[in-house]
Amino acid sequence: MISKRIKSLSPYKTETTVAKVRLSSNELSIDFPDYIKEKIAKEVAKIPLNKYPDPHARELKQIISQRIGVNPENIVLGNGSDELIYYLSIAIGEFDRGVFYPVPTFPMYQISAKILGRDPVEVKLDKNFDIDLEESIKAIQEKQPALAYFSYPNNPTGNCFSKEKIEKIYHLNLFCVIDEAYFDYSKKSFMDQAVKKDNMVILRTLSKIGMAGLRVGILIAKEEIAYEINKMRLPFNITYPSQVIAKLLLTEFYDFIQENVQKVIQERDRVYNALLSFKELEVFPSEANFILFKVKSMKACELHKKLIQEGVLIRDMSHILDNALRVSIGKDQENDAFLEALSKVLC
Ligand code: PMP
Repeated sequence: MISKRIKSLSPYKTETTVAKVRLSSNELSIDFPDYIKEKIAKEVAKIPLNKYPDPHARELKQIISQRIGVNPENIVLGNGSDELIYYLSIAIGEFDRGVFYPVPTFPMYQISAKILGRDPVEVKLDKNFDIDLEESIKAIQEKQPALAYFSYPNNPTGNCFSKEKIEKIYHLNLFCVIDEAYFDYSKKSFMDQAVKKDNMVILRTLSKIGMAGLRVGILIAKEEIAYEINKMRLPFNITYPSQVIAKLLLTEFYDFIQENVQKVIQERDRVYNALLSFKELEVFPSEANFILFKVKSMKACELHKKLIQEGVLIRDMSHILDNALRVSIGKDQENDAFLEALSKVLC
């Protein structure tokens, strides 16, 4: 029998609408060129598909740990950081203690809590999309959650919360997960603290820097914590092709990846300034690879639909934030197409 917990869930929503320009999933929209794909194909052809991959993904872990500047023992790899969020929601605290996160934010924190029957302790962000410290402290003292998630920068608002506020919440004796999925675009991190602390971990991912298809998420923590989380990891959770391809890309083509990240940062600033010129929009600054905005002259769902008719798909966020939409930063031509479509439908 399916449990009430599962029956009460709604399926995770992903945008499946077909559109010429897709700026809805916060991916990096620049794919690897043919000469790199050919190299990948050669490496993939060598994989013995009848064999399991290295269960510990040792070589990939070694490369990732060097790139981050920690030891492999500080790292647990997941099938995307989504899998690591599941692991953390299972591993940290007993299930009768809730899970705290400021909202609106990335839905997996809520989904993983609800699947386990843990109380989701949600506190609304303040008007600057920062943590409402007073309300958060109140909710934490009242409901005593054991675990807290902070998307840093926050998806979908795009900003990094105040570090001091996160630290204050950490000192309330909660285990804090700092989800730095968009770190490459913000360069802000809790890394120096996390590898020393007993109650803090960092999440990173290869998904936002051009490798979403590989499904590689990274948990960084003090060795003792990484050791415990690693015990519950599903065996062989990083597939053979993912290990081989990620190793190749993070060694031989790392500069290419970094150049793409830089291009997106430049494009983000250009798109942000262009959006500011629309008087019908309220635009929010971003430290990630997407921008959040609100529309004043029509309903967000209406604007969303009209943009699809123009061949541009972005994300309607109005189910979690009043009249808001989120656009991922794409290649310059894609961003131009979005801005042109926007001018057309807003006038
Ligand atoms: N954390 C945040 C804040 C995200 O926005 C996302 C993806 N949208 C993830 C985690 C999941 O990333 P992954 O592809 O590594 O599972």
